Amino acid sequence: MSLTPDYRALELIGAPVWIFDIDHRRVCWANGAALRVWGAATLDELCARDMGADMSESVARRLAQYQADFVGHGAVFHEQWTVYPGGKPVSLDVTFTGHRLADGRIAMLCEARQTVQATPEALRSVEALLHTAVMITLYDMHGLPLYRNPAAREMVCAPGERLSERFTDAAAHGQLMQQLAEREVATLTQPVHTGAGVRWHELSARKCRDAVSGDAAILLSEVDVTQLKESEAQASYLAVHDALTGLPNRNQVKLHFAQAMRELRTSGGQAALVLIDLDHFKNVNDSLGHAVGDELLVEVAQRLRTSVRRVDLVARFGGDEFLLLVASHDIEAEVSRIDARIRATVSAPIAMAGTMVRVTATLGAALFPRDGSDFETLLRRADLAMYSAKEEGRNTLAYYDDAMGRALRARTELEHDLRTAVEQQAFEVHYQPRVCVASNRIVGAEALVRWRHPVRGMIPPDQFIPLCESTGLIRDLGRQVFATAARQVARWSQAGFDLAVSVNVSPREFSQDGLVEGMRAAMAECGCDPARLQVEITESMLLGQDERPLRTLHAMAALGLGIALDDFGTGYSNLAYLHRYPIQTLKIDRSFIHGLVDNRPLAELIVQLCGLMKLSAVAEGVETAEQLRWVSERGIAEYQGFLYSRPLPAAEFEALLRERACAPAIAC
Ligand code: C2E
Ligand code: CA
Ligand code: CA
Repeated sequence: MSLTPDYRALELIGAPVWIFDIDHRRVCWANGAALRVWGAATLDELCARDMGADMSESVARRLAQYQADFVGHGAVFHEQWTVYPGGKPVSLDVTFTGHRLADGRIAMLCEARQTVQATPEALRSVEALLHTAVMITLYDMHGLPLYRNPAAREMVCAPGERLSERFTDAAAHGQLMQQLAEREVATLTQPVHTGAGVRWHELSARKCRDAVSGDAAILLSEVDVTQLKESEAQASYLAVHDALTGLPNRNQVKLHFAQAMRELRTSGGQAALVLIDLDHFKNVNDSLGHAVGDELLVEVAQRLRTSVRRVDLVARFGGDEFLLLVASHDIEAEVSRIDARIRATVSAPIAMAGTMVRVTATLGAALFPRDGSDFETLLRRADLAMYSAKEEGRNTLAYYDDAMGRALRARTELEHDLRTAVEQQAFEVHYQPRVCVASNRIVGAEALVRWRHPVRGMIPPDQFIPLCESTGLIRDLGRQVFATAARQVARWSQAGFDLAVSVNVSPREFSQDGLVEGMRAAMAECGCDPARLQVEITESMLLGQDERPLRTLHAMAALGLGIALDDFGTGYSNLAYLHRYPIQTLKIDRSFIHGLVDNRPLAELIVQLCGLMKLSAVAEGVETAEQLRWVSERGIAEYQGFLYSRPLPAAEFEALLRERACAPAIAC
């Protein structure tokens, strides 16, 4: 650019003067003294230097800020610089003012005055002040700024902003000044106004003297602690809230409970802790996936909140358990009202993952003061009540009573005995005939496990399979039953009986590694033909997004095992998915056979479906001749049921086989 006459006048000044083009990061003019400072032989050489090449991020930001302040406020800045012409440090006091270039842009006019060579200490402290992220401001005693370091200048809303204007809360300023009046240093962590909005700063103020005037002053240093504050707030929120549903958590209930008890003791009121557990939630999780499970929990949390009064506390307790804390003068009446509302709202169908899901809830309540007065006791008793409501068939409410404690002890004992029985392989397998409807001959059997308890006698599977599933014992038990059935099939086939035997496999077993390999090894060991074994699975297993059960089923099919779908019609009954799976048999649940009139159209549909999909159907639980007639009229190929025989020990089953083999076949 061409030099203007002003520039020539500046040339005459003995002190170094140069003009810095902030936008292009280059010197665009310098007088002779400045050339010496910069160690440049000519002006052209200096102007050609790219000053931005090794400029730090903080210096670049500072320059941009200066430029804005020159335009906005006609600001003047002073900095102490150290430059190294010929490798020797030279200390300069540099004054920066705005300077409009010929093309209208604002550049920076820099005038330097050489100062006495500062000590290395002083040189470094000046550098540190310029580059530190700590925001440092010197205020006079009226709160007017005397100096700000670059970090403070960058953060502040307006250059002339007073100390009192920094705070969002006027009281905080008062507090700081009060502290300063009493001692040398004051510290405070407060939200303050900054150019980037309100931020949390840790402020530390110290009484000092202004080096220029000698007057009393305040040196304020500030550090941005917003992130720390936010994570602290998040942590303390999470300490009392559940992250998924946003409901209070167990800790919050505990705190709230203590408070409520103090009030109730003086007012003489009553309260209830109600534990709410969703029925069969595990099925939803297993079959539709955890993401859908989580979504369902959020929806249920919402519904629970709308089912209670504003004064009642709803909390999530973990998993699919929720907790209510209710206070009232007639507590049982209030709990029944809430129970009715929960039953109406929670169990309304929810559309999820393309299916309508319905969840019901089981409630257990313990009352204050009747059942206890401390949190842990009431909670334990609410849990027992809930457990007993589950036993009574779920989807119901139970209040705690003392008999429940005894039931719990019995359950704990049962679990202990069950563990021992699994270890000692103390189970038997019984076989219930599968009978051809047309010929009334036994064509197969279902293997059903039995537990002969040393004291309590024979225990049916319904009483211990769920316990096995919840404890994970089902995996060992399942392996034992499968191996026993495989050995039995091998023996019967050697004896010349042409039978197919089916074995129940619970969904929990499907999640274990090596299930199929274990089955293959068990069959290989006893020489059982896989074509004579069938695996019975339930519908809930097929619904998930998870591809693993599908792969497992295909691996079983590849081994030559047959697959039957058990209890069909009682679950989700989504007929559309059936073709995805290698299934040969549908077992029609006994509730259809027992003539629950409402279900009959669905039963007919299922039978038609079997025909269309070339699946064989087995009617379960046939108890009467009339039921068998209905089965026969529908063209169902096979049946099982007490009408023909109960499940029998292997030897008795074999005796029955021999006996019936001699009997003439009956056509229905
Ligand atoms: P399931 O698979 O539906 O088995 C059929 C159940 O119906 C058996 O009960 C059988 O005794 C019963 N049953 C058969 N015919 C009739 C009838 O005419 N009327 C009535 N009312 N019931 C009949 P069980 O042996 O008590 O087994 C109950 C359930 O326990 C089974 O239902 C099955 O889900 C489970 N289970 C049994 N053994 C095993 C096993 O080895 N592994 C697994 N995972 N589950 C098993
Ligand atoms: Ca079965
Ligand atoms: Ca069944």
